[in-house]
Amino acid sequence: MALEDYEADMTRCSRCSDCKFAPASQLDENRAEICPSIGRYGFHSYSAGGRFVAALSFVSKRVEHSPELLEVLYACQLCGACDVACKKDRELEPLEMMLEFRARCVKDGKTLAALDRLIESLRRSDNMVLRPREERGRWADGLGVKSLATERAQVAYHAGCRLSFDETQWGIARGAIEVMQQAGVDVGIAGADELCCGGRAYEMGYQDALDEYAERNRKVFEAAGVKTLVTSCAHCFHAFEVLYRKIGKELDLEVVHVADYVNQLAADGKIALTREVPLRVTYHDPCHLGRLGEPWIPWEGEEKKVLQQLVLRDPPKTFRRGTHGVYRPPRELLARIPGVELVEMKRKEAYAWCCGSGGGVREAFPELAAWTAGERIDEAAETEADALATACPWCARGLEQSAKAKQKDLPVYDVIELVRRAL
Ligand code: SF4
Ligand code: SF4
Repeated sequence: MALEDYEADMTRCSRCSDCKFAPASQLDENRAEICPSIGRYGFHSYSAGGRFVAALSFVSKRVEHSPELLEVLYACQLCGACDVACKKDRELEPLEMMLEFRARCVKDGKTLAALDRLIESLRRSDNMVLRPREERGRWADGLGVKSLATERAQVAYHAGCRLSFDETQWGIARGAIEVMQQAGVDVGIAGADELCCGGRAYEMGYQDALDEYAERNRKVFEAAGVKTLVTSCAHCFHAFEVLYRKIGKELDLEVVHVADYVNQLAADGKIALTREVPLRVTYHDPCHLGRLGEPWIPWEGEEKKVLQQLVLRDPPKTFRRGTHGVYRPPRELLARIPGVELVEMKRKEAYAWCCGSGGGVREAFPELAAWTAGERIDEAAETEADALATACPWCARGLEQSAKAKQKDLPVYDVIELVRRAL
């Protein structure tokens, strides 16, 4: 789809501002906002509705590219909260429009230097974290796990760029492998040959990268006979499970987030969580696992514009509304750990507040990323939890840094770290 394909949506946006708040059924007056962008900047352009206005002006040639337009487009985590809020009783695609607007900027050579650097790193070293390729795979040293480069395995574990290169987070990836090894899973890793999923680049507007990495990753998994792909990273899960399907490059295997996979191992009695972990825990839904993790629903058909604004679709299109994201398995897994008591934050599941790190914001607008994470840490602290658990290394890193900056005594764990303690 091109940006112009959303012109009817641009005109049908009623400027109602539903995309800024949780719906009345879930509203808590103290935590009503769901959009970090408008929350931080307080000006309509920094919202999905505002970006519909900007996009309409752009496609109607009333405004041109400018640094201000670029900032409005990129000071947004693409967390998707606006999208589910808008779609709760409408058929508009604000998130898809924003993705296409970014892709247009890249196509027209209007980019942010901070993100260009990441793409250069991707081209040079197949990762989005500015690290040399040869350091990839070191996280698994000494684990004795199969290498997909030389051996076949039923299950592939994909660590992703963040976990692979951040030594302080290696325990999450190592823990995942150890849990699977204990359960007797035939698991392998690509190690030094692992590739970026391409998902973050796609969201930054560099859409070609997703095509390329979908193709290259498919070859790696096919050659090793992989039937199930497990990852700890919500962004990688979203790319493999949702984005590859969206661009017609669906992998011929099952994609499962590690929290879901390990929850199933526990349900099947393959691992025993017997050791007490006495903690009151609140769970942060990663956007890309939760509402954005909902399976892609392909649609092909005819769109007819009626009276300029009405769109008739034949056959009718089923919209993704955030209902079928991966919300339950991480919570079930936490509940299986003896001693863990789960307490929920006010904004959860489809209306969870973002951690701040998505959409290139961590790299291009670090102050917005830090403010967004800080809001989440405050919300978590309001539950009086002893710890915050999540299921994505990007969320864990941003939230942990924020808790430290705010001097909050709130340790942040990946759910797998808690599982490991209970084994
Ligand atoms: S994007 Fe949707 S929710 Fe936001 S103002 Fe427009 S119609 Fe309303
Ligand atoms: S994607 Fe998230 S940050 Fe961006 S406009 Fe929507 S709710 Fe706001």
